[in-house]
Amino acid sequence: MRSTGKITYDQGILHTPDHLALPYIPGDGIGPEVMSVALRVAAAAVQHAYRGSRSIEWFGIPAGQAAQAKGLDLLPEATIDIMRSYRVGIKGPTMTPSGGGHRSINVAIRQILDLYINMRPIRYFRGVLSPVRRPSDLDVIMFRENTEDVYAGVEFAAGSTAALELREHLAHLGHILNFDAGIGIKIISREKSRRLVRAAVEYALANGRRRVTLVHKGNIMKHTEGAFRNWGYELVREEFAGQAMPAIDLLPDEMPPEDVLLVDERIADAMFQDLITNPRKFDVIATTNLNGDYLSDACAAQVGGLGLAPGANIGDGIAIFESTHGTAPDIAGKNIANPGSMILSAAMLLNHIGWIEAADMITDALSAVLEDGIMTADLVAGRNGIVALGTLEFGDAVIQELVNTPQGGTS
Ligand code: NAD
Repeated sequence: MRSTGKITYDQGILHTPDHLALPYIPGDGIGPEVMSVALRVAAAAVQHAYRGSRSIEWFGIPAGQAAQAKGLDLLPEATIDIMRSYRVGIKGPTMTPSGGGHRSINVAIRQILDLYINMRPIRYFRGVLSPVRRPSDLDVIMFRENTEDVYAGVEFAAGSTAALELREHLAHLGHILNFDAGIGIKIISREKSRRLVRAAVEYALANGRRRVTLVHKGNIMKHTEGAFRNWGYELVREEFAGQAMPAIDLLPDEMPPEDVLLVDERIADAMFQDLITNPRKFDVIATTNLNGDYLSDACAAQVGGLGLAPGANIGDGIAIFESTHGTAPDIAGKNIANPGSMILSAAMLLNHIGWIEAADMITDALSAVLEDGIMTADLVAGRNGIVALGTLEFGDAVIQELVNTPQGGTS
C-alpha cells in the first residue's frame, strides 16, 4: 500500500519522499479558482513525468476570509503549525484591507515562519503582449528581503500616545516632527541583510548566473539602505572569496577574473530606468523589502503583467509558494482569471523539492500554449483574432499540451 510522507530537513538539505502530502491555502477572491487549476496542472505533470512512482496528495488549510467564514481566526495557529511541520506549501492570494483593518496575512506568515527570501523569477513568455519592444531581454530573479524594512509593521498612528512619545524622544535627538505625523520605523539589520545576499549569491553560483546586483537607496538612507549595500559586499568578500567578488573591488580597467561572479549595485530609482532601457544588464537582483516589492511588479509589467509572475517565500528548510497578484475581487467567481502565476508557482514548488522534470514540463507546456495564442482575457485584451479562454479551460489547455509532450521522466 502507498503511504504519503512528509518532507524532512537535515543539515541544510530537504529530503522529499516519493509520495508526499502537501498543504495549500486556497486564498480569497480568485484564489480558489486559480489554485484548483494549478493543483490539477501540477498533478498532471507529476503523473506524466513519473507515472505513479511519485505523487502529491494536496490538502487544504484555512486562512483569510474563508477561515473567518468558518468562525476561525484569519490566520489560525493550526494553519501555521501545519506549514511549519510540512515545510513546503502553496498559497493563493488573501485580502488585506488598505489604510486600516487587519494586517496582511502574507506579512504575518512571512514573519512568523521567518520566510526571509521573497524570490520571483521574471521572464517573458513568447506570444504575450508587452508594453516594451524587446520583452525577452528581461530575465531576472528577484531576491527581496521579506521580514524587515518599513514592512516590519512597527508603525504608530498619528496622534496616538506611542507616536507622541516617540515624537518627544526624537525631539531630544534633534528631530522635530509634525504633531500630526504617523510614524513608521525602517529596520534593516546586518544579520538579515547578509542572509538575503548570501541566498542570492548561492543561487547565482548554483545556477550559473552572471551577476548579482544589490539594489538600494543608500545615497539617501545611509544607515539602512546604505548599510544593506555595505553588509552585502562585506559578506561576499568574507564568504565567497574566489567564487564571487564586488565589482567595486576591481581596479580601473581591470577585467574580472574568469568564472568569478560579479556583485555590483544600483541605486533604486536609477534601477527602474535601467530595467526598461537596458534590462540585459541584470540577472539576479538582491534588495530590501520595499524596493523589491515595487521592482518586482514593475518587472512583471514589462513582460506582460502579474498574471504570469510566480513567487516563493523561503526560509531555512521551509518555503511557501504563491502567486504574485492579489485577490482580484473585480473578477472573482467569473472563471476569467489567469491561473498562470499560480501554475508557475506550483512549478517553482516542484523545482524546489527536486522534481525538476515535472516542473519543466509545466513551464514548457504553459510557454507552448501562450505562444499558440491560447490565453485568458487579461492577456487577450486589445488583440484581434484571439478568443479568450476561461480559467478552467486555460488549465485544460495546459494539461492537454503537457500530456501530449513526450515525457522524459525518471520512471
Ligand atoms: P490585484 O492583483 O488583486 O488586482 C489588480 C488588477 O489586476 C485587477 O484589475 C485584477 O482584476 C487584475 N488581476 C489580478 N490578478 C489577475 C489574474 N490572475 N488574472 C486576471 N487579472 C488579474 O491587486 P489589488 O486590487 O491591489 O488587491 C486586491 C486584494 O488582494 C487586496 O486586498 C490586496 O491586499 C490583496 N493582495 C494579496 C496578495 C497576496 O496575497 N499575495 C498580493 C497582492 C494583493
